[in-house]
Amino acid sequence: MTIGVLALQGDFDAHRRRLEELGARVVLVRKPEQLDEIDGLIIPGGESGTFLKLLGEAGFEKLKQFVKVKPTFGTCAGAILLANEVENPKQAGLGALNIRIRRNAYGRQIDSSIREGKFLVDKNGSQGGGRHESPLEMVFIRAPKIVDVGENVEVLATEGSDPVVVRQDKTMAATFHPELSADTRVHRAFLDLVHNDLVEKSAG
Ligand code: GLN
Repeated sequence: MTIGVLALQGDFDAHRRRLEELGARVVLVRKPEQLDEIDGLIIPGGESGTFLKLLGEAGFEKLKQFVKVKPTFGTCAGAILLANEVENPKQAGLGALNIRIRRNAYGRQIDSSIREGKFLVDKNGSQGGGRHESPLEMVFIRAPKIVDVGENVEVLATEGSDPVVVRQDKTMAATFHPELSADTRVHRAFLDLVHNDLVEKSAG
């Protein structure tokens, strides 16, 4: 399976290394047409406003079409891009996740921190059935907060009372940086999503 990592800016290389470690083939996506070659996409952390500028209108539209049909995982700035409502300040989103997200929600004083949250996925990495929670290290860097979770959005991890990993259909987002921790479970959950999508497509 081939996973693209949007490589316009931000920490795309840490995602590349993590995905390769887990056995995926990785393409660093710099041009819209590369989206046609991949089975799933990671939008890394960085600065979501800068991503929007670098994508331009055509790139944004192409990405909007992509996230409707293929699994996509956004971390931090990537999570902001995937939301359907962005505040602080208001900004365009791809509308793949029915969430409202607030940029830089932790304020300047604690703009970066490593915290322990809870991963709510079952032991086999698949959702549903024997759901169980386990501790997960989370690296937050000028992180956004998901302030509203709408219909059909499943919470896969929490930190305190906040949802920090969510999924809706084939779209996943984390407000922290799982690529910066040694724990590979969050990326594995995304690769499961891509795998299931491929199986579904070949069956249908
Ligand atoms: N603060 C950034 C934004 O609002 C996100 C930070 C990150 O990706 N680490 O886009």
